[in-house]
Amino acid sequence: MKFAIVSKGDQRSNKIKATMKQYLTDFDLVYDKENPDLVISVGGDGTFLEAFHRYVHRLSTTAFIGVHTGHLGFYADWVPEEVEKLIIEIAKTPFQIVEYPLLEVTIRAKSGGKEDCFFALNEATIKTADGSVVFDVEIKGEHFETFRGDGLCVSTPSGSTAYNKALGGAILHPSLDAIQLTEMASINNRVFRTIGSPLILPKHHTCLLKPMVERSFLIAIDHFTTNYTNVKSIQCRVADERIRFARFRQFPFWNRVRDSFVSEGE
Ligand code: NAP
Ligand code: MN
Repeated sequence: MKFAIVSKGDQRSNKIKATMKQYLTDFDLVYDKENPDLVISVGGDGTFLEAFHRYVHRLSTTAFIGVHTGHLGFYADWVPEEVEKLIIEIAKTPFQIVEYPLLEVTIRAKSGGKEDCFFALNEATIKTADGSVVFDVEIKGEHFETFRGDGLCVSTPSGSTAYNKALGGAILHPSLDAIQLTEMASINNRVFRTIGSPLILPKHHTCLLKPMVERSFLIAIDHFTTNYTNVKSIQCRVADERIRFARFRQFPFWNRVRDSFVSEGE
């Protein structure tokens, strides 16, 4: 089996990376940065997002696993003290796979031409540096509302504990094939009216955002933000592709939520 390791880059993460690389190679696994079957992220959830995007073109063949060198992470849920155990487990492949849904974002330009397509593991956010955004929000091809406000966030179930949570969104179990649309400071008065609640959309209920006022948009896909002008529409839906996690032990999602936000379990 071929593996790659993505480190956060700090001394501690680099040291764990070196140890894992050494031991796994001793177990006859092959370090291959280009075509890994398994990608190990060492750092935080941010590092895991980086690893995901580095290998996003290999979703159907690559499995991911995260070791955290900071506080408990949602994606990086193995502690450094467990690394030796993890190495032995990896060396004993094949492993079990758990899949989580992803968000597919397609950005189309007014001029037509090539569209930009992305997968997000956490979310996409759409904001602007100049005032507020105004979007017609369509769901499944039907006009739903006209949104005016700071911006919108569309998150995956596993991203629901990140930005989405800060916006008052619900925490969704990643076994649900859905995306969640949350508002950032919508303007609500007698002229502008939005639903005001987070919306959870199932698979095939595509959400289309059409700018009604020309703006330069800051579109973030996970940790990466790009500036777009002349946007015709931003389409969001549950992706057909999924992220695959290598699973070597149980760590139920709700335990991770509890340990991160409520209190550490026993
Ligand atoms: P960051 O500023 O370090 O991320 C903010 C925090 O979110 C970090 O503590 C990060 O964990 C954590 N995080 C990332 N994914 C998570 C998840 N699925 N569930 C729970 N917590 C999660 O930037 P970053 O590390 O590059 O991460 C980018 C993410 O930051 C974005 O995808 C977005 O979700 C989030 N964000 C949140 C807010 C907000 O809550 N107001 C604003 C902007 C962005 P680590 O420290 O382990 O990296
Ligand atoms: Mn981070």
